[in-house]
Amino acid sequence: MVEVQIARRGVHDERVLAALRKVPREAFVDEGFEEFAYEDSPLPIGCGQTISQPLVVAMMAEAAAIAATDRVLEVGTGSGYAAAVLAELAAEVVTIERHLPLAEKAQQRLGAAGYANVDVKVGDGSKGWPEKAPFDAILVAAGGPSAPRVLQEQLEIGGRLVMPVGRERGSQRLIRITRTAANKFEEEDFGGVMFVPLIGEHGWQDNP
Ligand code: SAH
Repeated sequence: MVEVQIARRGVHDERVLAALRKVPREAFVDEGFEEFAYEDSPLPIGCGQTISQPLVVAMMAEAAAIAATDRVLEVGTGSGYAAAVLAELAAEVVTIERHLPLAEKAQQRLGAAGYANVDVKVGDGSKGWPEKAPFDAILVAAGGPSAPRVLQEQLEIGGRLVMPVGRERGSQRLIRITRTAANKFEEEDFGGVMFVPLIGEHGWQDNP
């Protein structure tokens, strides 16, 4: 899957490709979906949410340019699959999920797969996790109307926020915001993507 669906589609970062090869995606999908685990598509995980497509996880991880010593925040734990990929790349991962049943299942799956450097929190990740800030990278796995200032302010100088942003739910641009100085943020566009909505104080207000 990694060679055919990811490397050929433009992700070349060797550490990211190695992390994707290492994480057993079948351990993060619901019973009955194991046979689809290595197809590059999103799959249902409960609470109306989906496990991210491996190509998208790879693109985001590459854009976040994660170093082995980095502390990373993920917003939108979902199945825990992307958190596992991030845990392969970084020193420490804090991941926030708003649905308690998903957070519990993800924590259990991450533990069973042997990831001790991931901390799953329950709450509104659109506000980040100030107690654990600053982060070297923040990855948001759900699309919001804009990149919350509170998240940008939880970045280390040199830190990267990678997030889908779009004025309409369900269609976004993947953007990277780099905090180049205390009050300086640079934005880059990585192209069109489709994510479930970010629901929270600094995201969309409700889930229609
Ligand atoms: N990275 C996940 C994919 C998750 S889909 C994986 O690999 O499986 C996006 C997730 O974001 C959903 O589980 C959704 O419930 C969650 N989410 C949406 N808004 C959120 C918010 N404000 N805070 C935390 N989680 C949120």
